[in-house]
Amino acid sequence: MNNDQQVQSMLDVMSKFVGYIGIKLPDDVEAKLQELSKQETSPLAIKIYETMFTNQKLAHELYRPSCQDTGVLQFWVKCGSKFPLIGELEAMLKEAVVRATIETPLRHNSVETFDEYNTGKNVGHGTPTVFWDIIPDSDEVEIDAYMAGGGCSLPGKAMVLMPGAGYEGITEFVLDVMTSYGLNACPPLLVGVGVATSVETAALLSKKALLRPLNSSNPNERAAKMEKLLEDGINSIGLGPQGMAGATSVMGVHIENSARHPSTIGVAVNVGCWSHRRGQIRFDKALNYTITTHSGVKL
Ligand code: SF4
Repeated sequence: MNNDQQVQSMLDVMSKFVGYIGIKLPDDVEAKLQELSKQETSPLAIKIYETMFTNQKLAHELYRPSCQDTGVLQFWVKCGSKFPLIGELEAMLKEAVVRATIETPLRHNSVETFDEYNTGKNVGHGTPTVFWDIIPDSDEVEIDAYMAGGGCSLPGKAMVLMPGAGYEGITEFVLDVMTSYGLNACPPLLVGVGVATSVETAALLSKKALLRPLNSSNPNERAAKMEKLLEDGINSIGLGPQGMAGATSVMGVHIENSARHPSTIGVAVNVGCWSHRRGQIRFDKALNYTITTHSGVKL
């Protein structure tokens, strides 16, 4: 294949992949929803989970979006410095979103700020957002795609705490966000927490935390303990499915952290909803692809 053919081949895969993750939830989310549904005893909570599962089954069978809000696309790209299409990748991802919007179809969610018109293509100035990590000497690429819905983006919040606030301050911040804005997203939620120096570093880590597989823990055992304590605390609010009360509130709490300035604690919360649409795809240099988040996919 020459360069143009390679671009068209990868574009074809990526546009189908973007559409597919809007239709089908990843394996770990499906399994977690099943697990949480079995803990419910109230008839309303049981019925809501049953409705969710029927909705997901029909979405797959009819090839319709898992939720009407198919979000704004965000891509996290770990690209080898020797991947053959590194220079074409960002423009290709944008074009893949346009194609998926027409072919799937996806809801039109890209409104030009200040000009206040909807582009109708799910792309615009700076969207889809692409976050890059360049991996030296690798010739492969790994792409995490995430659909940021309106409801699940609304609880997002970041601030910088005084150093004396300590880990108690982080806990208070997270619980304040969850008890005030948590219900803007549809529970059970995945709560991403970033801890760093400043608002932007904490915010990026809190979104990165939403890409981690469910049931995984922060490698630092004290951070992992805090994940569990926060999960127990938010579960005790008893939001239940769709916030209609129930045994649990969350699919998990994930903390991602960096070293930080001794005088500050940057903290951020990002939330994923029960229709947590993310997918990961890897390409080798010959453009053979592997999807790691969804089993048995044929694009
Ligand atoms: S919060 Fe999630 S499930 Fe609820 S409407 Fe938004 S995208 Fe859909």
